[in-house]
Amino acid sequence: MDFALPAELESLLARAQDFMREHVYPLEPVVARKGFDGAKAELDSAREACRRAGLWLPQMPEDYGGRGLPFLHHAHLSEVLGRSLLGHYVFNCQAPDAGNMELLHEQGSPEQKERFLRPLCEGRFRSCFSMTEPDRAGSNPTWLDTKAVLDGDEWVIDGRKWFTTAADGADFAIVMAVTDPDAAPHQRASMILVPTDTPGFVHTRRIAIMGEEGSGWMSHSEIEYRECRVPKENLLGGQGFGFMLAQHRLGPGRIHHCMRWLGLCERAFDLMCERAAKREIAPGKPLGTRQIVQEWIATSRAEIDAARLYVQKAAWTIDTKGLYAARTEISCIKFFVADILQKVVDRAIQTHGALGITEDTPLSAIFRHERGARIYDGPDEVHKHVVARRALKAHGLELGGNG
Ligand SMILES: Cc1cc2nc3c(=O)[nH]c(=O)nc-3n(C[C@H](O)[C@H](O)[C@H](O)COP(=O)(O)OP(=O)(O)OC[C@H]3O[C@@H](n4cnc5c(N)ncnc54)[C@H](O)[C@@H]3O)c2cc1C
Repeated sequence: MDFALPAELESLLARAQDFMREHVYPLEPVVARKGFDGAKAELDSAREACRRAGLWLPQMPEDYGGRGLPFLHHAHLSEVLGRSLLGHYVFNCQAPDAGNMELLHEQGSPEQKERFLRPLCEGRFRSCFSMTEPDRAGSNPTWLDTKAVLDGDEWVIDGRKWFTTAADGADFAIVMAVTDPDAAPHQRASMILVPTDTPGFVHTRRIAIMGEEGSGWMSHSEIEYRECRVPKENLLGGQGFGFMLAQHRLGPGRIHHCMRWLGLCERAFDLMCERAAKREIAPGKPLGTRQIVQEWIATSRAEIDAARLYVQKAAWTIDTKGLYAARTEISCIKFFVADILQKVVDRAIQTHGALGITEDTPLSAIFRHERGARIYDGPDEVHKHVVARRALKAHGLELGGNG
């Protein structure tokens, strides 16, 4: 087994690390002070620098202005960018846009690609993905209330969504709506492209998360679709294919989230060690001389490294054997890494004492923004159920879909 990375990837990662130190980490206190919208000028100038440095849009093909990185290489890069909550945004490979780009690239018509995908890749547009509803369990995405009915040449969309990340200020949404209510559950919904200036697209509110409402890309919104009409050509990827495409979108997306979380783990780990080495609890007695702090450090080190190997194995399985073969591994890493992220960040906060819950370090924002890691893209319990169901099936116990 060879753990060495190809030389060209090593050099790309080193360049990305330098860029993060020079352009991205310094933005964190600016965004903490002014919010995402307030820091737009500084963020735009970092994005421009990223473009000039040839690091922009790493995951997309060159004909869309990207670097065309292979899947595994992008997974490694994702860890470097993940060290800051802002890294992926500055490089234009942030969720939910990156998943939407992938969908449009694979499923979009030539017109949809020109109208929606190209400006997204160029950084002129932002987008959102509108699936979860306040009145339906998001963990069961086959059960939606939002409907789209064909009326002549138009889809008429009605329904309510929430936790539509980055909807505030987005240019378009990809909406999941029921188009075939009498079909089998997995074939009822479709994806439809909705420009956010369409009459009937109503941005109701930004939802405060643990006290922080956020703005722009760093916020989550409630949206109402009130007789929202779009041309029938705005259907993305075929009628009744919504669920299948959503699952397809989430598979590789979970690898990227996990690698991003590992970046956040490493950042928290470094901050924890630095504080443990420097903070004296008595003259000449740094915190790191205490065995309990050493235990946090050693356990975190082992957990992060084990998690990385597991994520890389899952990414390798997707790359060599396809998404279907990797489905158990994808579910396992989703809950495993989200749990480690929460533990490592919590230990780093504890090591910092009161400082850990201020905005003077990035830890507090990481904790607040990423508590959701155990909920979005499938809550822990759903993934654990999926893994256990497959294991038990091999022993003759059939649990069924939502059993
Ligand atoms: C930060 C963040 C960003 C998000 N961004 C988006 C977005 O951009 N677009 C979008 O459409 N959605 C988004 N979501 C929504 C997310 O996909 C849902 O929150 C998620 O699918 C869970 O759905 P729910 O919140 O309705 O919880 P529910 O489905 O009501 O579940 C509640 C809890 O019940 C438990 N549970 C559920 N099912 C089972 C089961 N089968 N077995 C055992 N226990 C179970 C779990 O503990 C779960 O946390 C986001 C969520 C968060 C937190």
